[in-house]
Formats: sequence, C-alpha cells, structure tokens
Amino acid sequence: MKTVTFRDGCSVPALGMGSWNMGDSNASCAEEIASLRAGLDAGLSVIDTAEMYGSGRSERLVGEAIDGQRHAVFLISKVLPSNATFDGTIRSCQASLKRLGTDYLDLYLLHWRGGVPLEETVEAMEHLKSRGAIRRWGVSNFDTEDMEELDALDTSCSANQILYNLEARGIEYDLLDHDRDNKVVSIAYSPLGQGGELLDDSVLGQIARTYETPSGIARPAQIALAWTLRNPNVLSIPKAGRRAHLRANLEALSITLRDDDLRQLDAHFRPPQHKTPLQMI
Ligand code: NDP
Repeated sequence: MKTVTFRDGCSVPALGMGSWNMGDSNASCAEEIASLRAGLDAGLSVIDTAEMYGSGRSERLVGEAIDGQRHAVFLISKVLPSNATFDGTIRSCQASLKRLGTDYLDLYLLHWRGGVPLEETVEAMEHLKSRGAIRRWGVSNFDTEDMEELDALDTSCSANQILYNLEARGIEYDLLDHDRDNKVVSIAYSPLGQGGELLDDSVLGQIARTYETPSGIARPAQIALAWTLRNPNVLSIPKAGRRAHLRANLEALSITLRDDDLRQLDAHFRPPQHKTPLQMI
C-alpha cells in the first residue's frame, strides 16, 4: 500500500479515514462504526477526528470503532483554537483521550490558528509529548506564512491538515512544497469535495470510465481520490460513513492516473497561477 512518512520515520498508509459528522445521527452510527472497522481490517490505520466534531460525538464513535484494536490504529485528533492555551490544550487532550478510550494519540493537531500565541500551544504540545499522551503534533489550516512563523519557533511540527481536492488547488502554489521541504506531511481534508458537485463533474466522469478497478469501471470519487494520492507527501482522509463508499475508496489505491488524464484534469481544474489565501471549510 502507498504510504507517507513522518519526520520521525513513522510510515502510515497514504489513505486514511475522516470522521466529521459521524455519530451525529443514531440511525447511522452502526453503519459508520462498521465502515471504520472495515477500513481498519483492510489496513487503513489512520483515523482522523476532533474534539469539535459533534462536540465529542465523533470521538466517542471512533472510540467504539477501535475498541480492542488500538494497536492497529494511527489516531489523530485536534484541539480547538479557543482551547489552545497551555492548560486548555492539556485539558482538551485528556478529554479527547477519555472519549476515545485510549491513553495516547498518534498525532494531535491545532485545528486552526486562533488568538493564543503559537509558542504557548507548541509548549503544551511538547509537554503532552514528553508525558507520552501524544506521539507527535501538528497543525491544521495553516497557510505558508503561518508555517514560516512556526518554523521560526520550532521545527518539530509533523503535519499540516489542509483542504485539498480538484476544486481547491491553491496549496499547490507554494504550501505543498513548503511542507514537503520542511518534513511536514500534508493531510488532505475533504478530498472528495464533501461529496458535492465535484463528484458529478462530467470531465471526471469521462476519465473515470477509462479506468478499471477490481469491482468494475472506476467512479469519479475514485479518480478524485487517486488524484490527491499522486503526491508522495500527501495523506488523504476521505470520510465514508457507508461501507460501500469505504470499499470504493480502498480501490482508488489501485489507480495510477495517466499523464494525459492529469493534463486533462489540469485544463479543467486549473492549478494556481499565483498565491491565493488558504481556503478552509
Ligand atoms: P469528504 O471530501 O471526505 O467527503 C465526504 C462525503 O463524501 C460524505 O458525504 C461521504 O458519504 C461521501 N463519500 C465518501 N466516499 C465516497 C465515494 N467513494 N463515492 C461517493 N461519495 C463518497 O469530506 P469531509 O469534509 O468529510 O472531509 C474528510 C475528513 O477530513 C473529515 O471527515 C474530517 O475528518 C477532516 N476534515 C478536517 C477539517 C479541518 O479543518 N481540519 C475540515 C473538514 C474535514 P458517506 O459518509 O455517506 O459514505
């Protein structure tokens, strides 16, 4: 399986699983847990969650899904910027660990940049790391200038989780290169454009029809995912609350896009020609 490697040498599959909105509806919880477990069984060890998602509901559901399998999971959670003081970060981490039913996170992220000085949050992250509560830390929704500011303070940031899909390519201008050059893994969130219009795109559909997966002709979502996975420093974390979607996403790992299709995608979903502010959801 394609992998990405963190600065400390830890490698994980380049396809992970998101969990925003999971746990929000009682009617879909069982299927969401089954989907995460099917992913783990297939070797997708990375699960992304956050204290923000459903005010803890996502973390509780993930905790249930990984029960008994913690050793096989690379678990990511995030602290809200409003909680990211030194004491607040530690409290948030403890609360996340409790909801998740574990005593450590593999990666803990600052969800986005807020009013707390970066130094203070970094100090809390390092403290949590020294206590074994987290294995490594990173950030989310940080643009190039924010990353430069972070670099000036500290060089041990492991990841930057950012919006990245065919319709949101701004980070290709300089942020993706900056992250790679500084040994920061870029984690692509909403790689399927949240399952919206992107998946109905006619060019994507036309390209999909020219690829085969183990279960038949490829679908647009699989091409969109394969596209994010073409970059060796990108970990892509689609959310699939349904097992059928999870299985389709797994099959995207078998797709390597041809150069002429990449060119066609570039012509249709233009890469950035100049710097634009980082988009976020
Ligand atoms: P995605 O781009 O992953 O899209 C999710 C939607 O696509 C769901 O409706 C899902 O349906 C559907 N879907 C999944 N697989 C397929 C498929 N093969 N074919 C068709 N539809 C499919 O959006 P998200 O916003 O959820 O992003 C992924 C994850 O990234 C989040 O869950 C979260 O963990 C993280 N994130 C982080 C942010 C941050 O600020 N750091 C912001 C936003 C997201 P269904 O669930 O019904 O299977």
